[in-house]
Amino acid sequence: MTDIIFEKSIPGMTGITLTDENLSLDFIKPQFLRKQNPVLPEVSELEAMRHFKELSDKNFCVETGFYPLGSCTMKYNPKVNEYLASLEGFTNLHPLQDDEDAQGALELMYKLQEALKEITGMKAITLQGSAGAHGELCGMMIVKHYFKTNGDIKRTKVIIPDSAHGTNPASAGMCGFEIVKVQSNEKGLVDTEHLKELFEQNKGEIAAIMLTNPNTLGLFEEEILTISKLAHKQGALLYYDGANLNAIMGITNPAVMGFDIVHLNLHKTFSTPHGGGGPGAGPVGVVEKLKEFLPVPVIDFKDGKYFRNYNLKNTIGKIKEFQGNFGVLVKAYAYILMRGNTLKDASCDAVLNANYMKEKLKEYFELPYDFPCMHEFVLSGDRQKADGVHTLEIAKRLMDYKFHPPTVYFPLIVSEALMIEPTESENKKRLDDFIDAMIKIAKEVKENPQEVLSAPHCAPVKRVDETNAARHLDLRYKKE
Ligand SMILES: *Cc1c(COP(=O)(O)O)cnc(C)c1O
Repeated sequence: MTDIIFEKSIPGMTGITLTDENLSLDFIKPQFLRKQNPVLPEVSELEAMRHFKELSDKNFCVETGFYPLGSCTMKYNPKVNEYLASLEGFTNLHPLQDDEDAQGALELMYKLQEALKEITGMKAITLQGSAGAHGELCGMMIVKHYFKTNGDIKRTKVIIPDSAHGTNPASAGMCGFEIVKVQSNEKGLVDTEHLKELFEQNKGEIAAIMLTNPNTLGLFEEEILTISKLAHKQGALLYYDGANLNAIMGITNPAVMGFDIVHLNLHKTFSTPHGGGGPGAGPVGVVEKLKEFLPVPVIDFKDGKYFRNYNLKNTIGKIKEFQGNFGVLVKAYAYILMRGNTLKDASCDAVLNANYMKEKLKEYFELPYDFPCMHEFVLSGDRQKADGVHTLEIAKRLMDYKFHPPTVYFPLIVSEALMIEPTESENKKRLDDFIDAMIKIAKEVKENPQEVLSAPHCAPVKRVDETNAARHLDLRYKKE
């Protein structure tokens, strides 16, 4: 660590003034009174403010610079939507208010459902889910309940590709499904021959197949119609992980590809910033035959009134208190209205930017799946590894060039993976700067590897123990 000046306390310094100096504490029972003063920093108001500003300046965020994470990238998050979500009419509304008195909020939710139906091609939507993984859980509960209702209780398995996002097997597993892994072929796509074998080997036992298209390699599953026909013929349902919809929205949709259930991450594609744990929203859409299985209430419209409809015959129940994270829904609706017919342009720009970068970088880094990509692409650091520098070190070195590193070591099927998603919001100058930095690092690996191995040189914290930090979180400051 560089020297972080944390000890700013000066005895007797304070940032507040008690209005009543003679305040009596008689109303507190003596046993509850402190015997000693708390150990708290004593700082003035101005110094407290400077302390927090200094800490926030150490952070890297989209407001600081380019953040091409990959898979979980934050897309376009216009600040004006934060303002809209904070309008008093929304924030002061009590979630238990009668439908009659909440027509505006219900109308917004209804119209958002309608918009998401249009975007996904699904026939009904729930807005309750509070994250992508929560949407997946909801979807898998619907799958389970659907087969149970049909008396088809032998379907206890879910097929998931080896390139899938980790939440997919976790969500299916939490619903009690056994996970069956389908391999990727040499093109990075689902191996349809292997898929056929799996359906044969597990005849009548597959409840669903969970896919994302484009997959986590950023590649479009060209055989998707073959896959969906095969799955349906075998009596299974198809689940679409739509966390990152900015590769296809406005161009095609999961319904066209034959999917039955979809979740979206409003906090990735539809304008809510994420990181630090939320809040987010993971709406779920379903086809006609699954409409009655959605969680309740869904928002409906009849005789000129919007209302919360609890009357779904086969509902899985409730998956979240009240109406979910309402502020996130406001932002998504505002974003969709703002984009209107140009929603498609976001997808086109995201795909163009990713392909541009991929083509510029493939000369310097291994590109294991060299095909046109969608909104992201995955490089491998294998060439650099042969020179003694790992992907982790390349990622750290990027920080010295003032770029947030991409996602590393995911998807698992690419060794030394670097997953890059530039998004639709960056201009060509930024993309070129990042490309230049990557090329410089590739040269450094050859000419001066020590520079990369000991990176980052400019970050406030050098190397952190990420696993330990996640497993044994300790937020207390300890004086050395
Ligand atoms: C982010 C992501 C998820 C999980 O979403 P959370 O909101 O983090 O739970 C699932 N699948 C894919 C492909 C993702 O990128």
